[in-house]
Amino acid sequence: MMQTIFKVIGLFLLSVVLILVIIAGKNMKDRNPGYQADIKILSGKTAALKAGFSAVTITPEVPDRWNDSDANSKYEPGKGDTFTDGNGNGIFDQVWIAGFGNSRAANGIHDDLWARTIVIDDGTTRLAIVVLDAIGFMNNNVIDTRSMIPQETGIDYTMIVSTHVHEGPDLLGLWGKSPFKSGTDQDYVEFVKSRIVESVLSAVSNLRPATLEISEDMTGAEHLVTDTRKPDVYDSGLRIIKAVDKVSGKTMGSLVSWADHPETLWGKNLLITSDFPHYVREGIENGIWSGDSLVMQGTGGIVLYINGAIGGLMTTHPSLGVKNPFTGIEYNEPSFEKAEAQGTQIAILALKAMENPVEKIDSAGISLVARTVTLPIQNKLFRLGTMLGVFDRGTSGWMKMRSELTVFRIGPASFATFPGEVYPEIINGGIEAPGGNDFALSPEEVPCVRDMMPGKYKFIFGLANDEIGYIIPKSQWDVKAPFTYGRNDSPYGEENSLGPETAGILHRNLRAMLEEL
Ligand SMILES: [Zn+2]
Repeated sequence: MMQTIFKVIGLFLLSVVLILVIIAGKNMKDRNPGYQADIKILSGKTAALKAGFSAVTITPEVPDRWNDSDANSKYEPGKGDTFTDGNGNGIFDQVWIAGFGNSRAANGIHDDLWARTIVIDDGTTRLAIVVLDAIGFMNNNVIDTRSMIPQETGIDYTMIVSTHVHEGPDLLGLWGKSPFKSGTDQDYVEFVKSRIVESVLSAVSNLRPATLEISEDMTGAEHLVTDTRKPDVYDSGLRIIKAVDKVSGKTMGSLVSWADHPETLWGKNLLITSDFPHYVREGIENGIWSGDSLVMQGTGGIVLYINGAIGGLMTTHPSLGVKNPFTGIEYNEPSFEKAEAQGTQIAILALKAMENPVEKIDSAGISLVARTVTLPIQNKLFRLGTMLGVFDRGTSGWMKMRSELTVFRIGPASFATFPGEVYPEIINGGIEAPGGNDFALSPEEVPCVRDMMPGKYKFIFGLANDEIGYIIPKSQWDVKAPFTYGRNDSPYGEENSLGPETAGILHRNLRAMLEEL
């Protein structure tokens, strides 16, 4: 009798293990087997440049529970994945908002989310840069989207960058109803892919001869971002490229790069919004308004906001006050007024900088090196998330992740990308090896990226073609006691990183690619 019971229990356990293995095997399957980005375009000549812009919305459908007079229709955390509207009709799927805790369901829409594209062409090479108002867009999705872009567009390389907004739908899977349930709606992912394709097609159709005007404000926006982890290193320079139609003299659009988490609205906001980048884009495009009066003329065109090195951790934390430039009211607590004050200040700085460009180019050659990189998944929770399918991206080998790096040059401007949230000290220098760091190492990721980059104007694009989490200098890695900087616990960051080898692998690859450029 006992033997039979043991046999039954044994068989049961064996089948549970077997089922888990099958599920994990399915989740870990390579989504893009054999895919290897390996592009090297070295332009030896200078030719007339063309540019084209587009802006396509990627706003999810969210029932307007915010403005609904019937309070019963408002989502309350813990009430379930679906709900009926105020009239008892219809059941909607929740849109889980990414970026803070689990189970934050959208209750309405404040402003649209976008896929905005610039296509640049030197007569030989055509490059598309798409920026999404998204927490991140994983490399497998980037690869899928590329395959959907028609050949006739003549695009040699498409880069898909995310702003890392913390007030939009979960595209990584981490912020669902529970930590073990993906918060990503696959229908929405497919929708975003198709909208990216539309955005690229539209930008290509808008290609026109253009002059690129580069402008910078390296210090003006420093007070709008704080660093919540030592060392205090920022990437707070504003770098701008404005494209002007050579024939009409009109502004076609601009690319504005800065570095800060778009999370000024923080973790209690329930309305879909692109956060402060919304106000940056609005201000630059349509001008700066104080009440009903126009204070600064906008440039028109389509503005792309791109984030740089936002790890380590660049944020407009509730402890950082932001002043409305007109009323002088200072906002600390997260609110749309605060995000507007911040975005408007950045827009003013950008508009002022654009009045005096540091360089204008209407001809140049585009050079580009792009490579697939393989990164080990060392983080145990990420391993589990990959096995459970919470991260719905598969693997490219046993506990390995396929990601991507790109470097490119357009005349005097150079660009380096990171597939996640890179710590600014890797970019600008200042990596430390504080006592208590887990590997007792001196700084490894040196020289800093900007010192290795060619050209005069050096742009960093974070969250490019992927979101792998934090990219932390190994000599600052700190999960084990004794802790760094006299702390009595581990700092925030490592739990959202692939592991301590990530930064070194990316830095070494980037260095080699920059040497080729
Ligand atoms: Zn982040």
